[in-house]
Amino acid sequence: MILVVLDHDGNRLRKGSLEALTRARALAEALGTQVAGVLLSEGQAPVEEARGHVATLFVAELGPYTPEKWAAGVLAAAKDGVKAIVAPSSRQSRTYLGRVAYALKAGLLEDTLESWAEGGMVYATRYAYLNRVTQKVRAALPVVLTVKPNTTPLAQPLGSMGEVVPLSVPQVATVEVLERVQEEKKGVSLTEANVVVTGGRGLGSAEAFKEVEELAALLGGAVGATRAVVDAGWRPYAEQVGQTGKTVQPALYIALGVSGAVQHLAGMNKSKYIVAVNKDPDAPIFKHADYGIVGDVHQVLPALIQTVKKLKD
Ligand SMILES: Cc1cc2nc3c(=O)[nH]c(=O)nc-3n(C[C@H](O)[C@H](O)[C@H](O)COP(=O)(O)OP(=O)(O)OC[C@H]3O[C@@H](n4cnc5c(N)ncnc54)[C@H](O)[C@@H]3O)c2cc1C
Repeated sequence: MILVVLDHDGNRLRKGSLEALTRARALAEALGTQVAGVLLSEGQAPVEEARGHVATLFVAELGPYTPEKWAAGVLAAAKDGVKAIVAPSSRQSRTYLGRVAYALKAGLLEDTLESWAEGGMVYATRYAYLNRVTQKVRAALPVVLTVKPNTTPLAQPLGSMGEVVPLSVPQVATVEVLERVQEEKKGVSLTEANVVVTGGRGLGSAEAFKEVEELAALLGGAVGATRAVVDAGWRPYAEQVGQTGKTVQPALYIALGVSGAVQHLAGMNKSKYIVAVNKDPDAPIFKHADYGIVGDVHQVLPALIQTVKKLKD
């Protein structure tokens, strides 16, 4: 069995789950086995949608997320033996899948770009050294594999509804969540957006981000920020792109007043088209940009907004 961990927001499967399903189906075909899904939740879960993608769906309601409980849930679903566990790569997956891999004595292939089975092994590629090189890695079965967002076509429903199997998850020693503050969510999710408009320190103030938001909204995209901006308190950490922030791979990445430090590039240099606006013609970002505008962002950004508005009219 190949077990897919299906991430969701309570109402819908996340896009990453559909990518993980595609990878799982390919591995299952190569290894001559079936795909099952596991849907863990702290309340509501998109059971009907998930059933449409797998023949067997293990479900468990576990209360607020903790790595220990989620690891126990995945292990309960895997107890009859698995060849691979496939999950979307996320901050959360990093906190519990290591435990799962350790318990199964399985190799852990994280953040993979591609994966395939060959000669009883699972191979994968992934970026290393701040995304500057791609490495090929392999592990013997069983493996735990995570799928980097935006690398894989989305799976389509099977056209039949899978069987739902309630999981019995053993109680585990775990941290107790005493309080959680839910971040306010506006617009499209940064990691799933097709267009990301990122502001850097060159914008000069938190107020200047109003125009960044406006351009992002016009393009149906999300707002990103550099660490300098987050450290200054202009934008929340959830919007930070880079080595210690989020990794994005949109079709269009617009960098406004961003110098292009290696730690920032690590989170966005795989974007399809990069457009940079910077007043310094020698800014490192221009080495990575497909289109560059040398100019003051306070003049260029309003002009971009006007142009997009006109094009949309
Ligand atoms: C361990 C570590 C991890 C890190 N992780 C991250 C990370 O995840 N993400 C991240 O972003 N950074 C990260 N950093 C910080 C990184 O090194 C840079 O300091 C940061 O990315 C710089 O942000 P910036 O480009 O906004 O600011 P700056 O480097 O100050 O660049 C501002 C740019 O704006 C231009 N500019 C100024 N005024 C204007 C104007 N009016 N019009 C047009 N252009 C203008 C300037 O020419 C300059 O190029 C990390 C650093 C370390 C050491």
